[in-house]
Amino acid sequence: MLSFAYAAALRRVAVVAAALLVLPLSLSGPAIGQAPSFPSHPITLIVPFAKGGPTDVVARIVSAEMAKSLGQPVVVDNIVGAGGTIGALKAAQALPDGYTLVLGHMGTHAAAVALYPKLGYRPDVDFAPVALVARMPILLLARREFPAADFREFVLYVRAHQDTINLAHAGVGSVSYTSCMLLNHLLGINPTGVPFNGTGPAMDALVAGQVDYMCDQMVNAVLPLRTEVIKAYVIAGAERDPAVPTVPTAAEAGLPKFQVEAWNGLFAPKDTPAAVVATLNAAAVRALDQPEVREPMTGLGAVVPPPDQRTPEALAGVVGREVQKWRMVLKRQAP
Ligand code: ASP
Repeated sequence: MLSFAYAAALRRVAVVAAALLVLPLSLSGPAIGQAPSFPSHPITLIVPFAKGGPTDVVARIVSAEMAKSLGQPVVVDNIVGAGGTIGALKAAQALPDGYTLVLGHMGTHAAAVALYPKLGYRPDVDFAPVALVARMPILLLARREFPAADFREFVLYVRAHQDTINLAHAGVGSVSYTSCMLLNHLLGINPTGVPFNGTGPAMDALVAGQVDYMCDQMVNAVLPLRTEVIKAYVIAGAERDPAVPTVPTAAEAGLPKFQVEAWNGLFAPKDTPAAVVATLNAAAVRALDQPEVREPMTGLGAVVPPPDQRTPEALAGVVGREVQKWRMVLKRQAP
């Protein structure tokens, strides 16, 4: 008969052995410069917009793949409001231990600087850039029944009815807000803006015909365009996009200055140890090469950045340039 103590010891060995079997065995171990004991528990990835929008979609695709090489779950936490700046601020104020990240973008980590006098964070100072994970064009979208067959008719209609039409956006400082503010400035119109906690819910309203138009990221538009429940007038890019080949560029339609590119970057709080950032960056870089990421992202019209654009330094460069760019663009629009 086994003694009680001996049986208990056997149970502990069995539990430990079982636990080792379920952990993804990364036989290679951390690379030089990475943090050997990180992560030891789940990571939180803040998405500053509502579920189902482009930021949320990109976050869930990339983080699910990152979790495999990190050996810990990456749990998406949607913290919404104020054009994404509430979620971004929460990340900036989190412990710099690598366990709280944010998926930011051209709005939260660039345009918001020019739109909020008291933003509470500096995108180029209060974060440790980890990796750029997606780039994508912006489309001018409208509800299916909007009374304009093309961009020329759209311009005529909105100029003649700007007091009765409205546009949807994801809050001051969001990509959709910033992009359509640029468009409205170029067209000399100022219709009512209807804010949502993200362009996921905003798209639902556009499909339902409750709002008239919206400027949104490609990954949110491809599927409703394919099912023809909404329409697109132009792409705010230098060239047409194979995901929506029949949509003309704004330049072709006579508005070459309507050029906007959205991007998504992964950020940790500033002062996050370099070795932890290196571990997170390695997981992101690996994820971007996996078919589980590349296929859904490119299928939705996003561009996966090439290797030289995936370094923390490259993302820092994007933020620096974009903050300057949007300061200039939005200063010109100021009344
Ligand atoms: N596309 C939204 C924006 O306008 C963000 C989102 O909902 O993902 O910034």
